[in-house]
Amino acid sequence: MSFTQSIEAARNARSLTGKAQTVLLQHYRAARRRALLLDYDGTLVPFYDNPKSAKPDPGLLRLLSGLSGDPLNEAAIVSGRPRRDLQEWFGPLPVCLIAEHGAWLRSRAEEWRALKTITTDWKTQVRPILQLYVDRLPGALLEEKEFSMAWHYRRADPEQASLRAQELLDDLADYTRNKDVQVLEGNKVLEVRNTGVNKGTAAMEWLAHHSVDFILAVGDDLTDEDLFRALPPTAFSVRVGLAQTAARYHLANPAAVRRVLHDLSKAVPEPVALTTPP
Ligand SMILES: [Mg+2]
Repeated sequence: MSFTQSIEAARNARSLTGKAQTVLLQHYRAARRRALLLDYDGTLVPFYDNPKSAKPDPGLLRLLSGLSGDPLNEAAIVSGRPRRDLQEWFGPLPVCLIAEHGAWLRSRAEEWRALKTITTDWKTQVRPILQLYVDRLPGALLEEKEFSMAWHYRRADPEQASLRAQELLDDLADYTRNKDVQVLEGNKVLEVRNTGVNKGTAAMEWLAHHSVDFILAVGDDLTDEDLFRALPPTAFSVRVGLAQTAARYHLANPAAVRRVLHDLSKAVPEPVALTTPP
């Protein structure tokens, strides 16, 4: 997609600035129970060449701690990362953690549980295919998670990478045709995982246990679109970056996301209207 086409596509989502941000703030203040669903990479932090370097900085941890410590809030980190990363970084926070694009869920102060019985027999066949493409593209790397395998190409030469990515997609399409697995195109990553598991299904499972009157969901890539589509139309869904999206709003980058979250964390709830005496 060209840059002009991207701008065109993003036009159906409004920028979450100015008037739109004021409306968001009003709804947030008026809400009695709020859900915040936040993707991590590309949403709360910028991308790093190596996914292992993207640890949360102290400023982000303070922000999340403030938001999740608000008794009116239920916060969830909804990420494609393996659960050990989320546990290590956000384990002590009073937040829900959703890992591997919805395969795992840890409600606050509970144990991790898998959301679907999943077989990973397909890994033995997919691993050599991905390994071949790691060998064929300098800078590419293979990441193995419990329920998925990812081929990252952020550090590779962009032109060569897009050729190899297309070839890999074709090879994987042959393999996955009659199997219970799918290929996801993320931001500089192709990921193979079981079907029927996504950020949308996991988020709805979590939301079913909380009665909320405000939902904010923020994410930056195709895997977040499953979440945006699953949410009720009243939710404030936000896509980071310029792209075709099912979200209602967009924001430019992680810095803009943090500014909005910071404003929310400072917002004072609207006082409950006093009932008039008889
Ligand atoms: Mg992301």
